[in-house]
Amino acid sequence: MKNIFVRICFIMVFVYALGSCTQAQQKAKKNNQENNTQAKKENTMDENKWIIKDKTLDNSKIDSTSKVVKTEEEWKKQLTSEQFYILRKKGTEYAFTGKFYKHKEKGMYVCAGCGNELFTSEQKYDSGCGWPSFYDAVAAGKIKTSLDTSHGMVRTEIMCARCDGHLGHVFEDGPNPTGLRYCVNSLSIDFKKKEEK
Ligand SMILES: [Zn+2]
Repeated sequence: MKNIFVRICFIMVFVYALGSCTQAQQKAKKNNQENNTQAKKENTMDENKWIIKDKTLDNSKIDSTSKVVKTEEEWKKQLTSEQFYILRKKGTEYAFTGKFYKHKEKGMYVCAGCGNELFTSEQKYDSGCGWPSFYDAVAAGKIKTSLDTSHGMVRTEIMCARCDGHLGHVFEDGPNPTGLRYCVNSLSIDFKKKEEK
């Protein structure tokens, strides 16, 4: 009799333990599903809501017929390793170190990857942020934007529309008339001095 009682107890404990295990598994599964849904939500964050827009930052104005497309190897040959890191790997140069940060000559700033004209010296201003800053771009369709959620921030990345080279980011704390600050790596651009007449 005692034996049977012990057996029943044992079976009950076993069934209870099994039940708890299944419950725990289900809970873990549910948590996992919730996490996945959350991750999905973050990945599909609505670009239209977050991205900074302006008349010169209209991706629909980009001329896709003049695209410059090169392989990683070709870019490596053409660019210095620092330029490659910034332009092709979306790197950022150290603040206050770039050769164009304090640059004040008159002329045109072009993409260091493909020569696309991006900013004029008239559009450059001293933002004090440590990188060359412009309040506007030369024209619509010159610069491509993309939502950048890396490093725990939500930013609008700016790229050369012709070669997709990473330039920097655009922020909404610039001066009039646009209120924008195009914050650009010196290594992403070259300078063409204006010819004196
Ligand atoms: Zn370019």
